[in-house]
Amino acid sequence: MGEFDLIEKIKSIFPSANQDGQIGIGDDCAVLDCGNGREWLVSTDMLIEDVHFLRSQSPYSLGWKSAAVNISDIAAMGGTPRWVFLSMALPADISQAWIDEFLKGFRDILAQYHVLLMGGDTCSSQKALCINVAIVGETEKGKSLKRSAARVGDWVAVTGPLGDSAAGLKCILSDLPADENIKALIQKHTQPCSRIHEGLQLAQLEGIGAMMDISDGIASDLRHILKASDVGARVNVTKIPRSAAFSAVCQRESWDELDLALGGGEDYELLFTCRPGIPLPPYCTVIGEITSHSEQLEWIGSERDFSGYRHF
Ligand code: ADP
Ligand code: MG
Repeated sequence: MGEFDLIEKIKSIFPSANQDGQIGIGDDCAVLDCGNGREWLVSTDMLIEDVHFLRSQSPYSLGWKSAAVNISDIAAMGGTPRWVFLSMALPADISQAWIDEFLKGFRDILAQYHVLLMGGDTCSSQKALCINVAIVGETEKGKSLKRSAARVGDWVAVTGPLGDSAAGLKCILSDLPADENIKALIQKHTQPCSRIHEGLQLAQLEGIGAMMDISDGIASDLRHILKASDVGARVNVTKIPRSAAFSAVCQRESWDELDLALGGGEDYELLFTCRPGIPLPPYCTVIGEITSHSEQLEWIGSERDFSGYRHF
């Protein structure tokens, strides 16, 4: 059973999470009515040593990234992040200095997005270092952007270049000597930004459709929008925005740009649909359109198929 089949199974065993118009399992956040014209957005993410990060990563950037991936799920709904809860399972060989640096990175990103740490849990671990962050954000009632809101004819667009993070990871794993380009890519991987301001701005647009953040690569993530909205999409791979640093390093190292940009993941840019022709902010790039072919993803400009990251 694959990762997404398992989530579907859990959803079918606990159906009440998604009844009465409530969104529980299946979107970037659960959307909970708080009864005063506002909605809470709630999400949780786990980071496991040797699955999501290596111990060699700087603790500062790991602290930063632990919150960034969570804040990104609030951005994905067009919400404002408010409170986080941090749980850590720590092996005995983690030093006090490591924990101090981790907390500094965690504190710096919380300060940047005006988010407060409100609690958590701390325990020991036999081997792997495990981090879990839960987040609460908010929106005006009915304003959160769901994966299910794509319509046939919509444009498909993204908020920034794709592939930097995957290329950064490849630079780390291949131990490439760090020039300016490589440093920039590694920074995107270890210390990603969360597109909160962009998400809030897009949520205000007339004619915005579905939205999510790109954590597994659009080859995988766009399929979630197609499934939730019961539509298809046609994406022109030549239009996928790529940074100058990314293209320079890929060309020099003979890495496949499309594999990394479409399937690499962890870019934490926003992927959204909108009614065609609406004026979009300058950081957005239209890469395709929504079709009526249920759950079919067609690539223009390449004969190949692409897939994103899956845990199993
Ligand atoms: P994201 O990449 O945005 O964090 P995931 O792919 O991890 O989202 O999860 C997709 C959806 O499935 C989310 O709504 C999440 O809350 C839900 N989900 C994932 N794992 C579980 C689980 N073990 N139990 C209940 N819901 C889950
Ligand atoms: Mg997400």
